[in-house]
Parts: sequence; C-alpha cells; structure tokens
Amino acid sequence: MPLLQVEHLTKRFGGLTATDDVQLAVKLGTIHALIGPNGAGKSTLINQLSGALRPDGGRIVFNGDDITRLPMHQRVARGLARSYQVTNVFKRFSALESVALAVQARSGSSLRFWQPVAREQALFDEATSVLERVGLGRRMEAPAGALAHGEQRQLEVALALATNPKLLLLDEPMAGQGPDESARMIELLARLKGSVTMLLVEHDMDAVFKLADVISVLVYGRVIATGSPDAIRANVDVRKAYLGDEQAEAAA
Ligand code: ADP
Ligand code: MG
Repeated sequence: MPLLQVEHLTKRFGGLTATDDVQLAVKLGTIHALIGPNGAGKSTLINQLSGALRPDGGRIVFNGDDITRLPMHQRVARGLARSYQVTNVFKRFSALESVALAVQARSGSSLRFWQPVAREQALFDEATSVLERVGLGRRMEAPAGALAHGEQRQLEVALALATNPKLLLLDEPMAGQGPDESARMIELLARLKGSVTMLLVEHDMDAVFKLADVISVLVYGRVIATGSPDAIRANVDVRKAYLGDEQAEAAA
C-alpha cells in the first residue's frame, strides 16, 4: 500500500477545473516529483493535500486513513507536513529558536510531564540535530531573517522536519535560487531521501531528474503520465505537452 493515495481529486475555481480527477500514489521512502507547466494545478494539488484547500471531489488516503476532511493540524500530527516560507515572526528568532518552537508545537503533549529545564534542553537538543541534518549546524545562532536566501530555504525544510513528518510536501524549493544554492538544496534532499518520503513540485529539471524515483506530469489539471525518470523523458505526450514540440522533434 502506498503511503499516499490520491483518488479522483478534483478542485474547481469557478469554471476552471484546477485539478481534474487526479490519481496519484506515493510509495514509502521515495521522492515522487510532480512537474508541469505554470498553471497546471501543482500548487492547488499540494494545497489540497496539506489541508489548505478543500477538494470538490475525490479522496486523499494517507498511511491507510482517509484524511480528505481532516484539518491541517491533524494532518501534521499524522505525519503530513509541508514547508512554508519563513514568516516575519520567525525572522526575529535565531534559527535554533525557530526550530525549537516548531519541535515544541509538535511535542507539546509528549513532553508535558518533563521537568521544565530538562524539557527546554530536550527541545534545543532536538532542534540542534534537525538543523545539523539540513546543513545549518554552524548557523544556528543567526537570526532567521539574517540568513542567506538559500539558508532560509534550508531552515524552511528544518521547520517542516521538526514536525517529524512521514511525508514532506515541497512546492518549488529551488525557486529563485542561484546555481550554488540549488545544488545545496539538491544535496540536502538527496541526503534526506529514504528517511522521509517526499512529494516534490519543481521546475528545475536537473533537480527533478537527479532526485526523483517517480515523476508525474500534470497538464491542465490532469495527470497525463506517471513513470520513472527514463520513461518520462522518453514519453512523447510529455515532450509535446511540457517540453515543447521543437524539443520533442529534435530528440526524436
Ligand atoms: P501551478 O502551481 O501548477 O502553477 P496552480 O495550482 O497555482 O498552478 O494554478 C492552477 C490554476 O488554478 C491556474 O489557472 C490558476 O490561475 C488557478 N487558481 C489557483 N488558485 C486559485 C484561486 N485561489 N482562485 C482562482 N483560481 C485559482
Ligand atoms: Mg505553483
């Protein structure tokens, strides 16, 4: 059974069907990439999975349970997390404090009976290990707002990891980054691969083909193909719809 099973998911905005009968299965331990042109419905799909948007039809089954109607915080509690942009609130805190807050938000109940000092130490220890995991071990004391753009993206991943997710939803984590920062993010996601399952929306095809085990292609709200990177690269419909006819012809 896949970790995430999306069945017939449909979302309309007025006359526009932004996700149209979407079927998707994400296997445990994999990176599943979702690609497609601008406006294809990728973010709309991610927002329905995270609970930010309510679908008009279809089902979301996560870890064996139907979560279609669950509010966002209950999805997070079950291990479904997405990374958000570091907010203005977080910018004033150090990277360590920000992640400690996220750990605390998750573990509030499980740590309730600890001694206050021990509890604080446990929060900071866990936050430290999450920051080391994303490569920010040496930047823990910096205010989040003072981090470089690429480092803020790493911090966003850390904030999501602090909730201890089974599945991490990533909506264009390389967007707006230079080649060095993108390379660092690719390295980070490659390192996390296996320990956390990921659904990755990304425009950077280098990143997608390096990281993904499976790729689904969304066009006008519909999944037109799902397969291995090699199968997707060779798929004529995908080339026509996504890469453009010229490239498809040139490659033929
Ligand atoms: P992608 O992330 O693939 O670029 P989106 O999911 O953002 O695509 O958008 C899919 C389509 O739905 C687009 O045509 C977009 O304009 C439209 N759309 C997205 N969000 C809304 C909304 N809240 N209200 C109305 N239309 C929306
Ligand atoms: Mg988008």
